[in-house]
Amino acid sequence: MSILAEAPPATLPFSKTKCGGCTALCCHYFALEIDAPEEPDDFENMRWYIIHEDVQIFVDDDVWYLQIFRKCQWLDGNKCGNYENRPQICRDYSDELCDLDGPESDLTFRNIEELETYRDEWVADYERKRAKKASKKARKKKSKKKRK
Ligand code: SF4
Ligand code: SF4
Repeated sequence: MSILAEAPPATLPFSKTKCGGCTALCCHYFALEIDAPEEPDDFENMRWYIIHEDVQIFVDDDVWYLQIFRKCQWLDGNKCGNYENRPQICRDYSDELCDLDGPESDLTFRNIEELETYRDEWVADYERKRAKKASKKARKKKSKKKRK
């Protein structure tokens, strides 16, 4: 076996890496987890969030997030300007599942219209399930009475 075949690949200059060719998309926003809706009223706060500028809501693996598009103050060009001090979340972030590869989320609401369309379907489904549950309960109650 040749020594060359076993030699480790040369380290790429930063400009040739994936991040080197990116405009630092991941440093231009932050996202906070929010409660997933359980009741129709739970959409009210989300309606409020989303009428603000530079905000969207996305769902990833059933977890709901509020995404705020604001550039990090430490971003210097497209590079981290305080690399040694960067927060843990930046250290943990992997370029294997990054924004450059496209949206990972299952659902994204970019404006109130998209959110309300989803909410209306969600509420209709919620009401259907509730009605089904109520009629099942009523049937059970009836059959119990008959047996007495
Ligand atoms: S992790 Fe992805 S989005 Fe962030 S700078 Fe690197 S390539 Fe760009
Ligand atoms: S601290 Fe650095 S890596 Fe983290 S978001 Fe800011 S610029 Fe990006």
